[in-house]
Formats: sequence, structure tokens, C-alpha cells
Amino acid sequence: MLLETTKFTSMKSGPHLVVFGAIHGDEVCGPRAIRGIIADLEAGNLTLASGSVTFVPICNPEAHAAGKRSIDENLNRVFCVTDSPQSYEARLANELCPLMTGADVFLDIHSQNAPGPVSLFTDYPEDPRNRALAAALPSKYVLLGWPAIYEETEHDFGSYSTNRCAHENGAAEVLIECGQNEDPEAAVVAREVILRTLAHLNMIDPLPALSSDAETVNIRMKRVYAHEHPDDRFEKEWEHLELVSKGTCIAVRATGERIVVDCDSIVIFPKVTATPGEEWFYLGEVEPN
Ligand SMILES: [Zn+2]
Repeated sequence: MLLETTKFTSMKSGPHLVVFGAIHGDEVCGPRAIRGIIADLEAGNLTLASGSVTFVPICNPEAHAAGKRSIDENLNRVFCVTDSPQSYEARLANELCPLMTGADVFLDIHSQNAPGPVSLFTDYPEDPRNRALAAALPSKYVLLGWPAIYEETEHDFGSYSTNRCAHENGAAEVLIECGQNEDPEAAVVAREVILRTLAHLNMIDPLPALSSDAETVNIRMKRVYAHEHPDDRFEKEWEHLELVSKGTCIAVRATGERIVVDCDSIVIFPKVTATPGEEWFYLGEVEPN
């Protein structure tokens, strides 16, 4: 198992930032953006003014090489140290989790399966550092409540996420979805996210302010739905963060059961290619500001 990590340390003390890419192997925006930033730091096009940063461009190398999301299971559900890891991803977690020790801030770069806007997740919004970092990044949408829906679901998806690991190590945490997996623009977004994180932490020179044309939309996650049967199907091809009004049928199960929203809702991460046992989609609600 070969994990490429690159660390830069400034002579001036400051926070320690950890940046991950390709926790899911087929999400290429993170590796592209991270490698670009590493090249800029090495070439002196970018100078680290304080603190230190550890980059892991590709956290799931075998899945990345195969162009797949994962090899055995979702790395972002088994992200904890275990004594006798039973899968490739569990072995990766044993290598990656220790990188969180001593981290002050953790940034996890992702892209999503469905089309839709850039969106950001902070699982511990009660930590003001997370809210402050979220506000510094170019995402209009902030999703809240991920841990709660995993506590409440009857399905055994596993709840050990990178964010949870960071939080339990005392680090601030943000996960950002930079666009659709195949969209080359996602790597441009990912680069800006890393630069703005560094600037927010005073680790590089300040950047021009974000255009504040739109107010942040907070979305409270309400429930995760599992794909249960190969014939479970969506009513239409939903976009990530598509707004649906009360009474809309989202999906129909193989049993004929219709999944209808009982209030105005947001469809989150609809996965057309989900297989039985996997997360299929989530529903959330816009939270009043
Ligand atoms: Zn991902």
C-alpha cells in the first residue's frame, strides 16, 4: 500500500492543516487541485507564510487507479483505526487516521455523482471554527446534520467519516463537494477552496473577498434512504440539491411503495447507480436564516 503525502512547514508557527483528495477514487478534482497547489508551493509561486500543511492527493489509490469509488467499501464510512482491518479501505483508514493527530483544521475535497451546485458539509456546526471556515469558502449551500441521520437510520451504513475523525482529534472540519465527478470545472473550484482555506488561516497572503451575491442557504439533512432492490427507481433524474414541493413523488420501490415528500424538501446526492444496500438519496429541508 503506497500513500503519497506531502508536507510543507513554514518557519513561522501557525495552524496545521490537513487536506485530503480522492477519499472516493473516482473523484478526480481533489488530486488535480492538490497536485497543482503542491507544484506552486514547490516552485515558489505560492509561499507558506505560517503553519504547516499536509496534503494527501489520493487517499484511495487502488480505487483511483481503477476509476472506481471504492474497492471493498466506502472509505468515508469506515474511517477509524481498527486492530484487524477486514477490507482495503479499512487498511487505508489505519494509515490515514493518524495524520489527523495534531491537525487544527481538516479539509476533505470531494465531487458528486449527480449534477448540481457546489455544496459544503460541516458535521459539527456548533464549533465556531467550522462555521467561520465554511463562510470563507465559495459554496452557497451549507449542509448540516449528517451525524444525526446516521444515528437515526435503521440501516447499518457505518458512521466513521473523515469529518468525525477530524472532530474527535480536535480539528475544525469541512467537507466540500466541488461539482459533478466528470466536470473539469470541479478541479477549478477545488483549487479555489484550498487557496481560500489557506488564506482564511493566514497561511498565505489574503485573497480578494468572495462576491457576496447570494446569501448562504443552510440545509438541514433529515433522512437517508437505502436502495433495497435492483428495481427501486427514481421518479425522474434528480439533481443534487433539487428543490421539490410537498406531495412530490421522489422514487418508487420495487414493492410499488411510493416515496412522497410530506413537506417542501431538498433532494441530496441522488445516486442513479446505487445498488441494494447502498445509500440511495437523502432528503433535507431549508433552514430559516
Ligand atoms: Zn466523495
